[in-house]
Amino acid sequence: MRHAKPGTIYLVGAGPGDPGLVTVRGLELLRSANVVLHDELVPEALLSEATGFLEYAGKRGTAPKVKDLTQDTIDQKMIEHARAGRSVVRLKGGDPYLFGRGSEEARVLARAGVAFEVVPGVTSPIAAAAYAGFSVTHRDLASSVVFVSATMRDGALFDFTELAGFRGTICVLMGHRRLTDVCASLIEKGGRSATSRAAVVRAGTRSDQQVIEAPLGEIAAREDVRTLKSTVLFFVGDVIGLRKELRFFDTRPLLGKRVLSLRSSQQASSVASALAARGATAICRPIIETRRRPLSDAHAALFHKGFAMFDAIVFTSENAVRMFFDELHAARKDLRILGRGMLVAIGRTTARALEAAGAVVDLVSDESNAEGLLTSLAKAFGARGGLAGSHVLIPRARVARELLPEELQHAGATVEVIPLYETVPVSVSERAERASVLDRAAVDVVLLTSSSIASAFADLIDEAPARARGLLLASIGPVTTNSAVARGLSVEVRSEVATLDGLIDALESHVRTQRVPVPAGL
Ligand code: SAH
Repeated sequence: MRHAKPGTIYLVGAGPGDPGLVTVRGLELLRSANVVLHDELVPEALLSEATGFLEYAGKRGTAPKVKDLTQDTIDQKMIEHARAGRSVVRLKGGDPYLFGRGSEEARVLARAGVAFEVVPGVTSPIAAAAYAGFSVTHRDLASSVVFVSATMRDGALFDFTELAGFRGTICVLMGHRRLTDVCASLIEKGGRSATSRAAVVRAGTRSDQQVIEAPLGEIAAREDVRTLKSTVLFFVGDVIGLRKELRFFDTRPLLGKRVLSLRSSQQASSVASALAARGATAICRPIIETRRRPLSDAHAALFHKGFAMFDAIVFTSENAVRMFFDELHAARKDLRILGRGMLVAIGRTTARALEAAGAVVDLVSDESNAEGLLTSLAKAFGARGGLAGSHVLIPRARVARELLPEELQHAGATVEVIPLYETVPVSVSERAERASVLDRAAVDVVLLTSSSIASAFADLIDEAPARARGLLLASIGPVTTNSAVARGLSVEVRSEVATLDGLIDALESHVRTQRVPVPAGL
């Protein structure tokens, strides 16, 4: 990894909206710079990667508190930071040099003698077109493409006579407010026919992407186009016809769904990425936190002496893996201490966490419940003379279902449970903040990912029952469903497999069966 250098300004492209579309170099700088000065169009998920100080340096504020900054102030800020020896990422939507004033800022830096580098980004017109289902060029349809800013520096409309003889694809940026003028001018001066294919893409590549397609002469007057919120790209060209065959992004069933995850903050990122892969937006508001517990002397000693006496170590959750390795590292030990036992993971998420810690998992039980595991363990131990007489270690939460240890004992195993952590509700003020998300009706689905989350959520709802109205509740598995139902929650999506992927699969098939036909143009 090449870290950001002190006293240097990096003009970095954040990509078009999907946080996965930032470059490797961009991410590495974001993770190492002292300061990140960002614009409004930058994806939130990327900002959470920053380790340095975050400063808004855009020209439009969404939050009323945030003042718009003049370009001069932004320039001065960069120069001051650089002179104070800080490394700065100046993060801009899309590519920093395409209509991003990037080169204007770079020129100020060059003139002030400040070191700078440019990290190009995936620009929004190309990426939004691809995610909307068309390419901006195609050998049969368009051999050229042009990027146009709807207005010029003085606010005047771009002079479309410049494009009169142009037959390629036209991508108009910053054109939403003047779309009627843009379309009229393209027809009158730009030489395009009113029947040309045209499309508007809002929030391209983001999970709330919207695409509206209509003939050039009609598109600006459409009610659904006029009422779109900002960040809109406008396209004209035959390539738009490719959408019929090339859509891949906005056909995903969970697209645009806002899904609330109440898991602890340590687990939030796995939920967010699993949801993003299916097109949904994760809203992560932990309602419980996991906390490490002090170990008994005998258990603490294991982390020093090693686990050689165990025939199997069974990890029941991602949290258990994390807490176990935290203990291991606190004792300044690594994988060598694990000994000869089988490493067993309940559920694929747990297995992935173990693999991320560098371990090779011997057995993954598909079902994240004790019953599923017992069958597979007994089979695996069959070759070693069965479970009878074996030693099994279970690092886990203090309060958990006793079924697994009991059944293992029943089968003749000696079981050692290490209570590594416990889940506790977040503070009262944090809870109020979580509840406010529901008030703003910013959520479509709530994931109930464990019994303790189901019951903490029921507490939240008890305080104001109206909040739950209209929310789709999705439970990870039978045990959680039972807890939720016992607390009076009505759970419509019930996963049977008790894994995060299983839960999201169940949600996806629920949405698919409930789905209203997609409106024309979407
Ligand atoms: N440097 C940026 C463009 C900045 S100009 C880039 O390379 O993409 C800002 C304009 O970009 C917006 O007015 C809008 O027209 C367009 N834009 C940026 N991101 C967008 C997105 N995700 N969806 C639709 N339009 C976008």
